[in-house]
Amino acid sequence: MQQALLLSPTLKSWISCSEDSDFPIQNLPLGIYRKSGQSPRVCSIIGTTVIDLFGLYKAGVLKTPTLRLEDLEQETLNRMLAKGKATLRNLRKDLSEIFRLENESTNRSRCMPFLQELNSVTMCLPVKAPNYTDFYSSREHAYNVGVMFRDPNNALLPNWLHLPVGYHGRASSIVVSGTPVIRPKGQMQLKDGEAPVFGASRQLDFELEMAFVIGKSNQLGHPIPVKVAEDYIHGMLVFNDWSARDLQKWEYVPLGPFLGKNFASSISPWMVDLDALQTFKVEGPPHEKPLLEYLQSSGPQNYDIQLEVYLITPDGSENLLSKSNMKYLYWNMSQQLAHHTVNGCNMEVGDLCASGTISGPTPDSYGSMLELAWKGTKPLLMKDGSQRTFVMDGDTIIMKAFAKKDNYRIGFGVVRGMVVSDL
Ligand code: MN
Repeated sequence: MQQALLLSPTLKSWISCSEDSDFPIQNLPLGIYRKSGQSPRVCSIIGTTVIDLFGLYKAGVLKTPTLRLEDLEQETLNRMLAKGKATLRNLRKDLSEIFRLENESTNRSRCMPFLQELNSVTMCLPVKAPNYTDFYSSREHAYNVGVMFRDPNNALLPNWLHLPVGYHGRASSIVVSGTPVIRPKGQMQLKDGEAPVFGASRQLDFELEMAFVIGKSNQLGHPIPVKVAEDYIHGMLVFNDWSARDLQKWEYVPLGPFLGKNFASSISPWMVDLDALQTFKVEGPPHEKPLLEYLQSSGPQNYDIQLEVYLITPDGSENLLSKSNMKYLYWNMSQQLAHHTVNGCNMEVGDLCASGTISGPTPDSYGSMLELAWKGTKPLLMKDGSQRTFVMDGDTIIMKAFAKKDNYRIGFGVVRGMVVSDL
């Protein structure tokens, strides 16, 4: 990978930021925010303070040379992504200079008009993905599903240890955190051998995933080699790949997921730069089978990112359902991208690739309701006394992701979605 921009862990900002914040000055993720009476703009964040980059640039405080004012007044980050890593690295560097503690006296008063509290603005969909791909890269998840629907001796299908299994998902229904999720209707077979019925899904589930955002395209016919794959990835988001298990189970043979998956996927509003996560790289699990050359990546290529899932019941009480970690993934992002393009498939700027459900090794680290309640056989007890085997109407699912080492934390914020029967 080209030289990443590493900001010192000891750097402090003149914008106040609590120690447990996801957004210290070393993070500086990008997002799109909207405020009444003005067009959507590119922003960043420190602590809970949203920084209007359009305003900063227009006022001449921010002067990243290869940026133009119109790049910062946009409905999505796609145009920023297309600027390329070098420009976005310069932008993060410039922002870290403007907002570092030592430069407070020069910058505070001229920046103030462009700073606002996160709770006073609306965060928009950060990226309009031309294409969305969903992988299936957690061995624990693939194993659990295999045990539930086949048997423990035949849990992983023969291809699984040789390639990162994936499918092409639906980009049009990717929504930003906070968007209500309408319970999908469709066909389901209630008992084996019976005729299907039509109705609202009774087995609505979430999938705890991380997604990467493509920042550089490759030409059709030109695969991306595994060793430079991260040059094509700009950043990451938290991704909830909502799934209707009953629709999925009836429809998926032989062509795979369709209506059980394409009704909604929720993403977090902040795109965290891969550069900000370099400190948290770790070795992945060992590969059990020898890999074909195009999938051989070396060195630490997994990311130690802690993941949490909460379910808020309609009474407002918060239940921690799962704690997992992105480092458990058997196939890393570079391998996923190398595999995706090995046949010549062309990635486009803004494409999203999700990891697949990230389950850990223990039952409290599973990344879906299907696994946590083991196909409905082990209901989860909520604080309000009710039980869950899948997600009910009025429930809100929240996913959090953050990397942490000593007292240094880089986080993603949250992705949140409430399930409703209808709008
Ligand atoms: Mn998925």
